Amino acid sequence: MSAIVLDGVETAAAIKAEAGVELQRLRAAGVVPGLAVLLVGDDPASAVYVRNKTRSCEELGVRHETKRLPAGASTAEVAKVVEELNRRPEIHGILVQLPLPRGVDAERVLDLVDPAKDVDGFHPENVGRLVQKRPRFVPCTPAGIMELLHRRGIPVRGTRAVVVGRSDIVGKPMGLLLLHADATVTWAHSRTPDLVAVTREADLLVVAAGRPGLVRREHVRPGAVVIDVGMNRIERAEDARQLLEPARFRDFERRGHALVGDVHFPEVKEVASVITPVPRGVGPLTIAMLLKNTIRAARGAQGPADPGRVDSSYPLD
Ligand code: NAD
Repeated sequence: MSAIVLDGVETAAAIKAEAGVELQRLRAAGVVPGLAVLLVGDDPASAVYVRNKTRSCEELGVRHETKRLPAGASTAEVAKVVEELNRRPEIHGILVQLPLPRGVDAERVLDLVDPAKDVDGFHPENVGRLVQKRPRFVPCTPAGIMELLHRRGIPVRGTRAVVVGRSDIVGKPMGLLLLHADATVTWAHSRTPDLVAVTREADLLVVAAGRPGLVRREHVRPGAVVIDVGMNRIERAEDARQLLEPARFRDFERRGHALVGDVHFPEVKEVASVITPVPRGVGPLTIAMLLKNTIRAARGAQGPADPGRVDSSYPLD
């Protein structure tokens, strides 16, 4: 048996198309959604992510600007930029690209982002709202995965779901969304003994560990749905030989690097019923949800300030 491979690009395009309709409606009402991205330092991966995000903004017609600060910037300097962005009414969404350099207190900076502009959903107020199942902004990657499951008709209610990873950005909010959608959720992490025994329980397995090819055939119960969040760049030929299918390996030999997930794709696609690939899986959904959240923020900014506003249009149930 070979799994159905879910193309995230297709679903992301559908989400963007809907966001585009909403954008036109807002424009007609005189509102142009605006996103500000704050990039501190010169991490090459972050630069690529920011470029992809701003390119998608352009495609859709979301106004965007990128604020850049040097790697040596202080917490106070970064905080000042966030506070300026908070004050500007034409900026509806603020995204602080992570990771911030070591010298910057990331927690303090994220706490400063106006919760009504926090399109990444990292502010403690938005995290709390998510925990209480009255979300405003939900972190884009897990929100995108819920959209993918929902739109592809993959049931969540009543399933046993295992999330590998417990980060604030992916693992934790992912588990909460699945819980709210009536899955029975287990989180596994770096200190989980006997990972295989835990992941084999899963009908729905979401892997966000940042470890190339961590999840192998033996981790997966036959027929499970496997969502691979990992985005890892590999450069060693022995890793590539292990993890890539022949066509992709030839591509690796030409380029000298490849992007792989946390799931050993060639092995797991033989046991899973459904699997997301890397690339073209979860990644594009994250950007689509960022645009959706930005448009949502602009919509929210139109009306009177209402910090208690509940937007429950996420497919939580
Ligand atoms: P993180 O490093 O913050 O967290 C990794 C988590 O995995 C930790 O909670 C850790 O306990 C767990 N873990 C690590 N090794 C493990 C092991 N051997 N067994 C079990 N659990 C283990 O990373 P993150 O920010 O959550 O990102 C995870 C991965 O997802 C990375 O590859 C990242 O690049 C990718 N990512 C992709 C997108 C996307 O849009 N596709 C978005 C965010 C993150």
